[in-house]
Amino acid sequence: MKQTKYIFVTGGVTSSLGKGIIAASLAKLLQARGYSATIQKFDPYINVDPGTLNPYEHGECFVTNDGAETDLDLGHYERFLNVPTSQANNVTTGRVYLSVIEKERRGEFLGKTVQVVPHITNEIKERMQLLGKSGDYDIVITEIGGTVGDIESLPYIESVRQLLWELGDNNAIVVHLTLVPYLAAAGELKTKPTQHSVKTLMESGIKADILVCRTEHNLSTEIRQKLAQFCNVKPEAVVQSIDADTIYDVPNLMLQEGLDKVALKKLDLPERTTPDLVKWNEFIHRLKNPKHVVNIGLVGKYVELQDSYKSILEALVHGGAENQIKVNIISIQSDNITANNVTEKLKNLDAVLVAPGFGSRGIEGKIETIKYVRENNIPFLGICLGMQMAVIEYARNILGFTNANTTEVNESTQYPVITFMEEQKNITDKGGTMRLGGWDCKLKEGTKAFDIYGETMINERHRHRYEFNNQYLEDFEKAGLVASGCNPDTGLVEIVELNTHPFFVGVQFHPEYKSTVAKPHPLFVNFVKAAMEKKTN
Ligand code: GLN
Repeated sequence: MKQTKYIFVTGGVTSSLGKGIIAASLAKLLQARGYSATIQKFDPYINVDPGTLNPYEHGECFVTNDGAETDLDLGHYERFLNVPTSQANNVTTGRVYLSVIEKERRGEFLGKTVQVVPHITNEIKERMQLLGKSGDYDIVITEIGGTVGDIESLPYIESVRQLLWELGDNNAIVVHLTLVPYLAAAGELKTKPTQHSVKTLMESGIKADILVCRTEHNLSTEIRQKLAQFCNVKPEAVVQSIDADTIYDVPNLMLQEGLDKVALKKLDLPERTTPDLVKWNEFIHRLKNPKHVVNIGLVGKYVELQDSYKSILEALVHGGAENQIKVNIISIQSDNITANNVTEKLKNLDAVLVAPGFGSRGIEGKIETIKYVRENNIPFLGICLGMQMAVIEYARNILGFTNANTTEVNESTQYPVITFMEEQKNITDKGGTMRLGGWDCKLKEGTKAFDIYGETMINERHRHRYEFNNQYLEDFEKAGLVASGCNPDTGLVEIVELNTHPFFVGVQFHPEYKSTVAKPHPLFVNFVKAAMEKKTN
């Protein structure tokens, strides 16, 4: 079996340096040279997965085909590589401890004292090599969440140290991402924080092989020499990562800096060809040379934090680029929308997307929004909770089901048009218990959904507990809101649409998780197109 090579990506100085984007860009370049690469992320928090985290805490929760609720960086990995990730690609401290403690309860440690070293570190090492041992990948990139020196990162850093030693020099390397700040008063870039962070890594027995330095200004040869000398790396292994206009520029910037070449050299792998980025660069060209602009409203309750809707924002970028249209996103807090101000709040918008969400806050604002866009023929895409609100709006205002609601908000509503699934009724745990991951959906011919997808059977990712209540399906369809996509096994409604409206589509699933640079999602492509048509009409 081939020897899988490992690249570990650590971060120093501060968080939010964009380790995920650097890891994804490096993987992209390796993939473009013909290597099969995957990326995994190890997060040092105690939640078993980010599914139970408020989006304000940690940004969006990304969902994989196999139903794992994961860190949003996995979204970047998929968008860059166009290869699906899985449960194995995201591991947290909580998951590691849970599995060690379960083993202890089963008596698998044969009476030994269970300790951080070696039991926790062994569990981490095993998980770090899981994808590598599958034989599917030439190179596995492992991003270590957090910043070196953090107390909670220690077991991961120690596991990396052991693996570097076990796997040998040419089989595993460390890329350390740091910040080289610019002091405006002195007019200088400062290398000291990087020196310190490399030293901290060294205290844990790890020597960085490559330094990637985030900076606002170009690193001079002098600065590169200095960093190389004091951080114990070759000058060509000092790579600058300058602020970019878009994250999609980063692979090209890393190519110019030779990040992939240094990594391959250290791993004793041939360069093969020059990276084939033809398709990628066509996308960038369309992205950067828009012929038109549209304004799309994003109505949600977590709009203050951009990361909460990361995949939706990126899917709109992909959908825009595909049409060579720049999409301006106008974020609107759903809490603040009322019948009195909805016209004012939604003015000048060419389309409106109503976002997913949980709980009751802001839902009446979403319902007002949907009434407005439905009556004014403004293109509408409702995702998950957004679709559920479209159903409620139609029930209340067209079917005359006064106070229709979802049982998530009002358990005793007279018209529970959105309700709990039978099999969910007895579940009390909140983590990992929703309808999660990829589910088939059969599209009805002659509908907008069928037109958009151009096929009968699709598979999309879910993350919700409540469902369209099929008891009312006939009422809705008679009144014009049709179920254009249903799960073939359970009959659950996955898509609703209005055929009397230019673009009114609600989806129970999350199409945004499947949109990539190589394959922009057709729903987003067509939604942006509809916004453009609305604008020119
Ligand atoms: N809160 C809704 C449910 O659980 C919708 C979830 C979502 O929008 N992801 O069904």
